[in-house]
Amino acid sequence: MIQADKHLDKLSYHEIIETIALGSELPECLTQICEAIEQEMGLEAYSSILLLEGEHLRHGASPRLPPEYTSAIDGVTIGESVGSCGTAAYSKRQVIVEDIASSPLWEDFSSLALEHNLLACWSTPIFSSSNEILGTFAIYHRSVKTPNIEALNIIASYTHLSGVAIEKHKSSARQQTLIDALNNANSKLNAFLSVIPDLALVIDEFGAYVDIFGTNGKSGSLFENQQRVIGENVRDVFEHQEAEKVMSVIAKTIETGDVQVCEYHLNVEKGICIFEGRSAVVENYLPDEPDKKHIVWMGRDITRRKQNEDKIEKLAFYDSLTELPNRRLLQQHLQKVIDQSKDHRHVSALLYCDLDNFKRINDSLGHAIGDELLRLVAKRLKPILKADEIIARMGGDEFVIILSPIAGDSEKINTEARTTADKIIATMSRSFRLNEGEYKISTSIGIAIIENGDHSAGETLRRADSAMYQSKSAGKNRYAFYNPILQSVIDQRLQLEREISAAISQDQFIVYYQPQINPVTKRIIGAEALIRWQHPEKGIISPDHFIPVAEQSGLIFKLQDVVMKHSCDLIKGFDQNPNFKGKMSIAINISASQFSGDIEDALRSSSSEQDVDPKRLKLEITESMLMDDVDKIVQQMLRLKQEGFRFSVDDFGTGYSSLSYLQHFPIDELKIDKSFVAQIDIDGTAIVDTIISLSQTLGFNIIAEGVENENQLKHLTHHKVRGVQGYLIAKPMPENEFIEWAIKNER
Ligand code: C2E
Ligand code: CA
Ligand code: CA
Repeated sequence: MIQADKHLDKLSYHEIIETIALGSELPECLTQICEAIEQEMGLEAYSSILLLEGEHLRHGASPRLPPEYTSAIDGVTIGESVGSCGTAAYSKRQVIVEDIASSPLWEDFSSLALEHNLLACWSTPIFSSSNEILGTFAIYHRSVKTPNIEALNIIASYTHLSGVAIEKHKSSARQQTLIDALNNANSKLNAFLSVIPDLALVIDEFGAYVDIFGTNGKSGSLFENQQRVIGENVRDVFEHQEAEKVMSVIAKTIETGDVQVCEYHLNVEKGICIFEGRSAVVENYLPDEPDKKHIVWMGRDITRRKQNEDKIEKLAFYDSLTELPNRRLLQQHLQKVIDQSKDHRHVSALLYCDLDNFKRINDSLGHAIGDELLRLVAKRLKPILKADEIIARMGGDEFVIILSPIAGDSEKINTEARTTADKIIATMSRSFRLNEGEYKISTSIGIAIIENGDHSAGETLRRADSAMYQSKSAGKNRYAFYNPILQSVIDQRLQLEREISAAISQDQFIVYYQPQINPVTKRIIGAEALIRWQHPEKGIISPDHFIPVAEQSGLIFKLQDVVMKHSCDLIKGFDQNPNFKGKMSIAINISASQFSGDIEDALRSSSSEQDVDPKRLKLEITESMLMDDVDKIVQQMLRLKQEGFRFSVDDFGTGYSSLSYLQHFPIDELKIDKSFVAQIDIDGTAIVDTIISLSQTLGFNIIAEGVENENQLKHLTHHKVRGVQGYLIAKPMPENEFIEWAIKNER
């Protein structure tokens, strides 16, 4: 090449090199080469450059050849004897044809060449630096001609230069393709980055920001000038704790090669924002520093989402009315306190508060006022608590407080709980201003101690709740600690209550009847209905075992129905028999809770439903039932009496009422208690005699119950009591036995 170069005109050579180097279009470079060689070789030389494309030679440059010729050979397929150029390209050697007309290589093409007066053609293959054929460089002459050494050298130089031009063009074309592909990928990436809300950063393993993308995105517009972060370090941008978090995520990403996701806070111009970061390793990011590792970090501003999540959490964990924590949050907190009491020997206490007369206010003033009251209660309770104590609304008018756990024993926490309970009761005792009125409300509190992680959250709540009920039944507006002994009584009672309820639906309750007779004639005047529980396993259970529970739970009304129904059936049965028609009356025991409750309707409806005249029913009440609101009771008794019901005072003498007091009530009969009857045998007859004679003067009928022997019967008969009842006459009997007994007795 050096040898070749010296044949070139220095100026044109440099011009051509410059043209090539400047990246001019290939035809321009090749034309310049052709013009230069033609100038150098003399004007009878016509140059032509063809470019090899696959198997074909395509036009490259031939500034002075006739255009018809040029276009005629454009695209010719190379081969063994395809003129000078086709053969040179095919055989990869220089082909010098001095006389086209006689050359066998030109056999198929000579006429075309001769037509244009082209007589000689010397063609040289153009090689690439890697020895591939790029095309051919040819010199035509209008006369038969053989090249001398100098001409061959000149041709060699320009052929080489052509090779450089073509190769340069090819590589820049390849480069262009690469650049196009890169641009394409880049514009896709940019489009992608512009629509995703993330800010994309490239960070090296030491926390230095290397690149930033997507700065126009939503998360991107955080800093006035995002680019300034380039070159900074994570540790400059973040607060210490957050920086450490981010750095550990970077380390983990590099260590595992997996995508990592994390949340972090960043103080940006609009304030502290919450971001979600995703990181992945990016390989060989800086080819100059192949040892340095990089990650790509996508940061997304999720502040809004987090705020929404917070709102949702607020809804899920807070009571919307009072804004206090709700049951769920309380349970979580309680669990923590219980765990703490297990692990750290801490003690705490749970206070279950229930407003005493909330329902009344709510019902009488309406729910809006009720809600307002609950808000005021919450507002008043909150300041009582210490910083880490929690108060929650459990629903309705129930609030729960958990004291802050303290190191110490139950003694210490007991005192704390008492103090807090006292404070609650005191603050609630001040009246509430509502709807322009003043309202008094009180609270019953149950306290359960949390110690050694002994009990579950559910059990702790249950205990405090049952202690709260103890406060209520002890008179409200007070507190009580959970008491396991009381609790077992309550549990047993609850169990019995459930059993009674089930037994009612399974018709396990039956009625026994005990006859009452006239002591003189010995004829039956009626019977007392006494309920029994015919238990499938335990046999007959006496009423003393279930009546008190039935009274407390309200089940007594259902039991009363059973007794009423059976008694009415019995009366109707006796009415079928001419000997008894219209005579049999039944005494029914009435509980205190019934008497103050809805008894009128119950009695009325069951007697009318069963079509039995109320005159046939005697209601046994006790003295204590007559102690409360006298006027009200008298009115009620009068109404019932008007319908025909009669009243008998049961267990007479055991209460504290005087006979004169009983005069105020529409009573028909006194039933002398069996303890007085029993006294006849032991202490003499003075008391019984007095009672009987006084009652008779006041106009009451007398019945004696618990008559067990002839002596008692004789004495009572002598004193003209109207009726006697007791084991001496007959024990309480099931219905069938009683009917048999009655029929036998009447004979
Ligand atoms: P009570 O009303 O004083 O009923 C009389 C109790 O004395 C009955 O006990 C009866 O079996 C028993 N008795 C009868 N004669 C004698 C006797 O000669 N000597 C002795 N020592 N006792 C005698 P019972 O049936 O166990 O009933 C107990 C209590 O249960 C009743 O006392 C009554 O208060 C209540 N009771 C029974 N049935 C009902 C009912 O249907 N409703 C309500 N509310 N209470 C009922
Ligand atoms: Ca009775
Ligand atoms: Ca009695």
